Amino acid sequence: MRIVLFGPPGVGKGTQAELLANHFHLVKFSMGDLLRQEVAVSSSIGRRVESYLKQGNLVPDDIIVELVYNFLLENRERDILFDGFPRNLNQAHSLEQNLAQLGQKIDFALELYIADEEIIKRLQNRLYCSSCGRIYNCLTDPPKKKGICDVCGQELIKRDDDEEPVIRRRLDVYNSQTRLLTEYYKELNVYKRIDASGSKEQIFKRICEILDGYIDKE
Ligand SMILES: [Zn+2]
Repeated sequence: MRIVLFGPPGVGKGTQAELLANHFHLVKFSMGDLLRQEVAVSSSIGRRVESYLKQGNLVPDDIIVELVYNFLLENRERDILFDGFPRNLNQAHSLEQNLAQLGQKIDFALELYIADEEIIKRLQNRLYCSSCGRIYNCLTDPPKKKGICDVCGQELIKRDDDEEPVIRRRLDVYNSQTRLLTEYYKELNVYKRIDASGSKEQIFKRICEILDGYIDKE
């Protein structure tokens, strides 16, 4: 079973990926984690990645493709959840080709969906603990005492990248690149849209209703 999970920034994708991976015993593929790992162990790819990142450049596609292929080979017997990858059509094509070489394919492409205006409202109401990093939402998940972390009692702060112009820019990138995956995966007959409004438990339940019966939990 190979599942792609995608959705706009602020939709709660990371949380759902974590829940899904644990519940269905999936190996999680995250490009960010993989790049950090390679750099940390200073592999030959890792050293190349590091030199791009140091110069503030994007990691080129050929390195990305190589990393993905290595990961697929290593985990060919496992069920995989692709978390936030692919991000664009090029990456989707190369992922499909790589999988085909192993006689595999994407079984589900799940898009977590809520309206842009709803995302902006959510992110603008997000608060972070400056000490332990716990995230709150004034609307849906407020701290017990206003402005103070439940866990460690430190002050809660807003982050610059939760300001509206920054959010709009990130949504524009998503809508112009990643959202094209919708049509791509519809044609492959694996696309499902998940209503990502409500609590994380409600969203998770909606995803499980789709996947239950397809995945053996053992
Ligand atoms: Zn805290």
